[in-house]
Formats: sequence, C-alpha cells, structure tokens
Amino acid sequence: MNQDGSSNQPPALLQTLPGDDVRQIMWRFAERFDYQMVVQSARAVARGPVARAVAKGARNTHEWTEDKAALLTEFDVAGITAASIDPEFGGFLEGPKNFVLGLLAFELAWVDAGSGTSSMANTLALAPIHERGTPEQKQKYMSASVPPQPGEDRKIWRGAFALTESIPYVGVDTGVLSGRVRVTEWRDGEEPLLHVDKRGRFITNMGSANFVTAAVDSGDPRIKGSCMIILEETDPGTWDRGIPTKKLAHQLSSTRDPVFSLQVPASRIIGGYTVKDGVIIPNYSHADVIEAVFTRTRATPAIMTSAKLLSAVEPVIRYHRRRFRGAAGITEGTPRFDMGLQQKEDALHRLLDVWAAGEAGASLGFETSRLLDTYDAIEKAKAQVLAQQGIAGGRAELKALRAREKDAAEYVALAYKRSPTAEESARLAALDADAVVKFIVTESLSSVLIPSAKLWNTGHGVNMMREAVSMMGGYGITEDCPGFLGTKWIDGQLEATYEGPEVVQRRQLSVTMSRPIFLQQFQQWIAHLREVARAHPTLGAGTLASAMELWFWSREHLSSAKDAHGRDLYSNQRHGVTYPLADALAWLVATYHLVLDVIELKQKGPENAALAEGIDGLVSFYSDLTHIHCATAAGEATRICAELVFGYRAEPEAPGSVPGADAFSDVAPFVALRTKVDASLAGSKLAKDRAAESLAHVMIPEVLDYPV
Ligand SMILES: Cc1cc2nc3c(=O)[nH]c(=O)nc-3n(C[C@H](O)[C@H](O)[C@H](O)COP(=O)(O)OP(=O)(O)OC[C@H]3O[C@@H](n4cnc5c(N)ncnc54)[C@H](O)[C@@H]3O)c2cc1C
Repeated sequence: MNQDGSSNQPPALLQTLPGDDVRQIMWRFAERFDYQMVVQSARAVARGPVARAVAKGARNTHEWTEDKAALLTEFDVAGITAASIDPEFGGFLEGPKNFVLGLLAFELAWVDAGSGTSSMANTLALAPIHERGTPEQKQKYMSASVPPQPGEDRKIWRGAFALTESIPYVGVDTGVLSGRVRVTEWRDGEEPLLHVDKRGRFITNMGSANFVTAAVDSGDPRIKGSCMIILEETDPGTWDRGIPTKKLAHQLSSTRDPVFSLQVPASRIIGGYTVKDGVIIPNYSHADVIEAVFTRTRATPAIMTSAKLLSAVEPVIRYHRRRFRGAAGITEGTPRFDMGLQQKEDALHRLLDVWAAGEAGASLGFETSRLLDTYDAIEKAKAQVLAQQGIAGGRAELKALRAREKDAAEYVALAYKRSPTAEESARLAALDADAVVKFIVTESLSSVLIPSAKLWNTGHGVNMMREAVSMMGGYGITEDCPGFLGTKWIDGQLEATYEGPEVVQRRQLSVTMSRPIFLQQFQQWIAHLREVARAHPTLGAGTLASAMELWFWSREHLSSAKDAHGRDLYSNQRHGVTYPLADALAWLVATYHLVLDVIELKQKGPENAALAEGIDGLVSFYSDLTHIHCATAAGEATRICAELVFGYRAEPEAPGSVPGADAFSDVAPFVALRTKVDASLAGSKLAKDRAAESLAHVMIPEVLDYPV
C-alpha cells in the first residue's frame, strides 16, 4: 500500500462478458424465477428461429411471408404471446407485466427488434382494452389472444393498434384524426349499430391481425367526441389490410396501410358509453385511452435499442481481435494475431462508449418498467380515496391532486433522509400510507422517466449504434455482419420514431421536468449521489452530482431570464430552450440509474456464488464503465446548459472579443459550477484506460451467441 492509500497491485480485470447472474442483480429480478424462465424461452426463440430467419434473408422483403408468420407460432409455443395476459384470461404470469415485457423485448431485440415488435404490437393492440375496456371486452379479446391449449379447437386472435392515419403523411398527434364513427341504425330500446371509416397508416401486425383497436372521431351529432373502437375482420363491410409499407427497418414485423369501412355494434366502443338525450357519450375519449396506453408501453422500444448496443459488444471484440489473422507473416502468438485492432486504444475506448450507453439505457428502461409495475395499484388506490371524498372527473381531480403536491414533496424529502427523527419517521409512515401522495410521487417520476427513456435510449442509442457499425468497417454495413449490426442501426431509428417521435418526448419532458415535485426529487438524487461519491469514490458519482447541480441552476436561471431582445427564455413555445434542456436532463437521468444498478451489483454481486470467482474484476470494470459514462453525460449536459445560459445574451460589440467579467456577474454561480464539473473529471480517463485493459483481455466464447 502506498502512502496515499492507493495500491501497487494491478486492478482486477473483467474475466468474462456479463451473463444472466449479473443482469438479474442489476435489473433486480434475481428472485423472480418465473421471469428467468420466460427470458430463457424468449432467448431460445431469438437466437434460434429468429436469427435463422434473418440469416436466411427473411428481412429482404416487405411482404408478410410464411417464414415471418411462422415466428408468431414460435412465440406462442415459447409462452411469449401469453406473457402479457393475466391468468384469469389464460395467461400464466401473476401481477403487472411491464417489466417482464421489457425483458422479452430485450431478448428478442438482442437479435432482431422487428420480431420483438410483432410481439409488442400485439400487446399494444390489447392495451386499450386492458387499460380502459369493459369487463366483457377484456374477457372476449384477452381470452381469444391466448394460444389454444392442447385439446382446444380454436384459432388464436392477433391484434393491431391503429392510431396514425394518412393525413397527408402520418401524424402521431392525437389531436388530429380523420377516422369517423357514425350511427347507421338505432332501433328503439336496442343497441345502436355504428359505421366506422378509418384509413390507417403504418399499422404494425396488419398482415396477421384479426382485430384492430382504432382511434376515431365522431362524424355524427348523435355521438359525442372521439373514442377507441374494436374492429373485427368478420364485421360486415370492408376490411382491407392495405398495401405493405416498403420499410427499411423492422422487416420481420408486418406494417401496412389498412382501409376499414365496417359496421360494428356500439358495445365495441372501448370502455363503453352512456346515452344522454339521444346522444352516445363514450366513457373515454380516444386521447384518454391513448394516454393510458402510451404511459405504459413507451419504455419497451427504449429497452430494445439498448439491447442492440449491448449485443454489439461481443461481435465487435471478436472482429477486432481477429482482424489480421490469416495475413502473411502474422503468426500465432504475436500481439497482432492475438489482439488485432485491440492493440489500439481507439478500438477499445470507442467500444466502451457503446457499452456504457447500452448499460445506462437498460438501467433506465428497466427502472421505468419496474416503476410502471407499481402504477396500476397506486392509481386504483388513489381513485378509490378520491371517490370516497366525492371527487370525480378530470378538473376536480386535478385540483385535489394539486392541493396535495406540497405533502408529496415533503414525502420525497423525508424518504431520502438518512437518520430521521422519530417525528419525521412517523410523518413519513403517514405519508407513505396516503394513496394520493403515493400517486403524485409515482406519477411525477414516471412522467419524467418514460419520456427520458424513450428519448435518450433510442436517440442517443441510434447514434451509438452507428459507432458500433463503424467499428466493423465495411463489414458493418453488410448483411453478413455478425450480430446483424447494420440492420440494428436502422432498426433503432424506428424505435426512436414510433409511439411518438423525439419531439413528443421532449414536449412532455419540458413540462414534467419543471414540476416542483420532480425538482424536489431531483435534488434528493443529487444529495444521494454525494453520499455515493463518498462511499464509492471510483464511480464518478461526484461528477454526475456536479453536472446535476449545474442543470438545476440553469433551469432555475432560464425560468426567469430573458434573451437580448427582452423575450422570456423559458416558455412553452420556446422549444430552442426547453427541448435542449430536456435532452440534457435525459442524459443525467439515464446515468443516475446506471449508478444505482452498479451499486446494487457491488453490494449483491459478492453474495452470489456463481459470480464469486471474477467478482473483483467484474465490479471494478462496471465501476470504471460508470465513471466513464458519468464523465460523458456531464460533458454533454453541461455543454447544452452553457449554450443556453450564454447563447441568448447579446454578442460583444467587437467581433471576437470576450466580454469583461462584469458582464457575467449574474451567471457567476454557473461558471463556478461548470469549473467544479470540469475539475471533477480527474481520474475519468484513467478509468477508461483501466476498463480498456479489461476489454483487451476479457474472454469471449469461441463462437457468437447466435451462430447462423
Ligand atoms: C414501421 C412503422 C410501424 C408503425 N406502427 C404503428 C402502429 O402499429 N400503429 C400506429 O398507430 N402507428 C404506427 N406507426 C406510426 C408511428 O407512430 C409514427 O410514424 C410516429 O409516431 C411518427 O409520426 P410521423 O411519422 O407522423 O412523423 P411526424 O410527426 O411528421 O414527425 C416528423 C418529424 O417532425 C417532428 N415533429 C412532429 N410534430 C412536431 C411538432 N409539433 N413540432 C416540432 N416538431 C415536430 C418529429 O419529432 C419528427 O422529427 C408506425 C410507423 C412505422 C414507420
């Protein structure tokens, strides 16, 4: 041991690539054997039939082929189809399904996200019914979507979700709908018959769907507002699956532009309706239903993109190590033969950036889906309490919730207290038992985590996927590229697009990130990171905490500052300010959750017998990876903040001159915080060197994990 406490011992290296034991600890499902079984069966399908279909060229056509359809049957047999369905309707997993569906999407997207999307789109089609359907609707469509059991003679039903329309391009804006529902026949005392006209655009699963959950607006004075409605392929009228989309991504799923003109009973309105003065009033507007659906489903595409980045690690290492083998004069045992491009820092460092982005995205995505798993029960409990108080309906409920925000902020602050007094503990317990407070906290957190995951994992993920592709040189953009990296790159762009492209996520974040309750939460995260930095100095947590302080200061400053023309900087319409600030936040949020997962690994890893042998190297590698990522995230977030804080000030009179110190006195705290971030980067590149050493030595299997 040296005088400064450091050791001369070389750091332990990562021995093998992380396996299931590591993931189970980090993503907190080491105790869930049922989930582990589902992961195994999904993996067998992904790395078997799905990989073979891709290698065979199934992606080379946009038609819905037998090979692609056969994969759906593989999903049925492996239990993937029924995994989203509650046991009362024939499923096999108790409880909420967000997290387990994330695991399934991860496994499938590891090989091909298009296959994952077919499975996800089926769940998306059922989601409006799951979230807002009547008991009869749930019973009918959920039970029909479970694969037939041995001895059962019935066809399985598959669904599609149709929001977007061809007006004139697509449009995920829920405020713009051309699809119409009208009353076609309504006899006294009988159920009304409706006529639905809807032209869908880019509808996934349309090649195989037997039913569609479609968003439509009223085209009749006897129907109020909009709704979602269930269409079946045998309904009278036109059920035209439409032409296949000539897409460049996710070719293993079906996407078409269907045309529907169908007659359906009014009981197909999702969530039912009431009749008042001869007018049909749907219990839920299409926007109500879609909000509930997207709240729960947007984390899944985010997880898919992260899976791709992590899946790229092994093929890139293999390629780099073997790069020169076979050339004349490069003999076995020489560094060029053994290490190939991994003799160069660049090959090692860039791959670490890809890896870290994948880990951070997965950490955020899975935390989001774990949080969503708590959502239903908390939402129901809140609704019950409010109903008991006679509070019902949108506006009254909103008012009641707003009145409790202060208590919710207090709850967040108390929940993070290390040594609370007896009085504080009692107060915390009381608030913890308060359904309304619990809901406000969960809702405010999920309203930041969901768009952050969808925005950052997919947007930054695609950029990093390009990096992975480039590391394979020309091979990267061939169909033969091991790990299908080239196709994963373009597939990732689709994950960034559907269920709402980037702008939708930024718009949501720009509102939710400024709620006092979230800002309270954010400050607790900073305090927590400071504690982490003391206990685990090699994680880079101090850098992240400093970057978060700077973001917090910038948001406060921008919220009241004006630009050189006297216009407000932080306003709803000023996307040039609020959207980049949302981007900066997403970097920080993703990285914070990586820190949490690595602490979990540090704590629980040594208790796991299967990890015993390589635990030191594993933990030190993950610590270094986190340190690297904290530095990158801090750099990105603080750069964005600096541009916003300084970029709207007047230019100095003399071109190229630097304004005097006085001109910046109001932003002196920013300058101090930024210097603190920069200084905290000490050691981050050393961490990268150490992690690179691990990458250069880590053992990889003889063959790729899904040979084809
Ligand atoms: C293969 C595929 C499968 C799909 N599957 C389905 C499905 O099953 N069901 C379904 O309903 N839909 C589906 N979609 C549609 C998908 O949800 C939309 O394509 C997606 O949400 C993006 O909307 P858009 O294409 O209209 O892009 P646009 O909304 O036109 O976006 C174009 C660009 O403009 C930005 N932008 C959009 N609005 C604004 C604004 N107000 N201010 C500033 N910038 C803005 C966007 O961020 C984006 O960068 C699918 C799409 C594809 C490609």
